[in-house]
Amino acid sequence: MKHLTRQQLEDYLAQKLPEVEEERVEEHLYACDDCLARYMDKVQEHHEGESHEKTLAWLTSSPSQ
Ligand SMILES: [Zn+2]
Repeated sequence: MKHLTRQQLEDYLAQKLPEVEEERVEEHLYACDDCLARYMDKVQEHHEGESHEKTLAWLTSSPSQ
């Protein structure tokens, strides 16, 4: 399996990837714990710049049914 590059993860996070590429990245993240861990690191980095409140709300929000 070919792992995702850092660039791919960054572009995915920034939603800069074309839809086809995005789906490929998503599928890999579901299948690969290594890349998922790297992605979660990136997510944290990404959210550091934003308000804590917003991040917390995002993390603790439960889907309404
Ligand atoms: Zn991988």
